[in-house]
Amino acid sequence: MFSCTLCEKETVYWYHLCDKCRKVKHYISLYDDRVYDVLDAVLAREVDKQDNKIELEIRKEIATKEQAIKKKKIRSNTD
Ligand SMILES: [Zn+2]
Repeated sequence: MFSCTLCEKETVYWYHLCDKCRKVKHYISLYDDRVYDVLDAVLAREVDKQDNKIELEIRKEIATKEQAIKKKKIRSNTD
């Protein structure tokens, strides 16, 4: 019986990381530095301002994806 090496709160038996921290590790493997950018951008704020920042970040991401979709549509129409 050991403590999770990341959060140091949860007890682990077979792995170094608890279930919640393994999920974080999985996100890092998928999104790399984007995980750290989001954590810095969102959590380095007072709690009441975090919701506003989350909403802003989500809006930014939606706009970026919408632009990418528009570009794809324009490219497929010109081919
Ligand atoms: Zn943990």
